[in-house]
This record gives sequence, C-alpha cells and structure tokens, in this order.
Amino acid sequence: MIGVSKIAFRDQRFFCAIAHLKKEVPMLVIRQMQVGSMAVFAYLVGDSETGDALVIDPADNIDGILATAEKNNLRIKYIVNTHGHIDHISGNREMKSRTDAPIIIHEGDARMLGNTSPMLLHMFGAEDSPPADMTVKDGDTITVGKISLKVIHTPGHSPGGMCLYIKGFVFTGDTLFVESVGRTDLNGSSASQMFRSIREKLLTLPDDTQVLPGHNYGRTSTSTIGHEKIYNPFLQ
Ligand SMILES: [Zn+2]
Ligand SMILES: [Zn+2]
Repeated sequence: MIGVSKIAFRDQRFFCAIAHLKKEVPMLVIRQMQVGSMAVFAYLVGDSETGDALVIDPADNIDGILATAEKNNLRIKYIVNTHGHIDHISGNREMKSRTDAPIIIHEGDARMLGNTSPMLLHMFGAEDSPPADMTVKDGDTITVGKISLKVIHTPGHSPGGMCLYIKGFVFTGDTLFVESVGRTDLNGSSASQMFRSIREKLLTLPDDTQVLPGHNYGRTSTSTIGHEKIYNPFLQ
C-alpha cells in the first residue's frame, strides 16, 4: 500500500492516496496522524515488504500510533525527532518503553532531550524524553527496511532542526508548514538561518515533492514544494 493518509484520531478520517510514486518506491507506506493538543503531525514511514518502520515525532496518542502501525503490519524500529521541542518529543518516553526503539535526533538538538524545563513538562502533562540513542547530521541517511531517508539539516527554528527526504516526500518538522513557516522568536532560533535553510535546502527540491509538515496549521494537511514557492507568504 502506498500513499499518505491522514488519520485524525478524533474522527478516524482516511485522507488521500498518492499513486503516481508507486513505481518508484513500491513498498513505501506513509501514514500522517494528528496527535495531541498542539495539532502535531506524527508520521509512520515503513516498508510494506519487510514490515519495518520508523515513527517521526510521536508526540502523543501512543495507543493510536501503535494501533495504526499494527493495522499496517508495521513494527516501529526507530523513533525520529525532527527537533527537540517539547510538543514533538513528549511521547518519546512512552513510545520507547513500548517498542524498545532507539531515539534519533540531529546532533544540534540532542542536548534538549532530558533537559526540558519542569514548567513546560507540567504544561504538556508530559514526562521528559530519554536521551538520544543516536545522533545524525546533514547528509546522513536513516534506513528502515529498504526505505532510506536523507537527513537535511535545516537550522533556524532550532539549532538542530532537520527535515527528512525520500524521493517524492519531505518531512519538514517546524521548518516549513503549509503556507507558513516555523517560529523564529524562540530560544535558539534564528530567522536568517531559517530562511537560508528553506531557500537553499528545501526550495531546491523538485517542485512535485510532497511537503509533510510537523503541525496541521494550514488549509490542507500536505502541500508541495512548488505550491509553497508560489503561495507561501513568508517566502515571497
Ligand atoms: Zn518546534
Ligand atoms: Zn512544533
């Protein structure tokens, strides 16, 4: 099965499928799931032949994410965080304890895991993440089954923010949203780095690349690089 589906856990709606990439990566499975109170998108990315998968930003509703994995015959082998902010890492501890999957994050944000302020943890009703098991840097690949995701370091929203690229798809975390971009007013943010990251590393991807953002903030839940070049008001 191929494509991107959105499972909003409240209404269990099935979203859209992308068939034209089937020839390129026939075993690729991507599931987009909105979790938690901050409209975070968690993603399952798996290989339907081997059943191996990774989960990106399992921020909340670990029961729902695991049920989706099971329904798709996928085993979660890695937990990958696009960056170290609490709204994306708040489910790491439970996901790790239930899957035994190692946690992967960019080396620039690794120090954030286990160092979230008690106030933020209280606000999110979350436990802090265990430390990273592995760190990655720009140009590295994360392989699960026969699927390889390329690490694109996109500092700006946070120092170690990263996007993950598979031909046809890019997971953009809090760097690029549908017709918007991530905040650059936070501790560790840099607006100039952010726009350089987006211009030089994301807008240079093929126009038909599907943008899979870290929050459901747009009119639609996915976009394309070509669409963002024209319609993202922050990139004009
Ligand atoms: Zn963030
Ligand atoms: Zn976020």
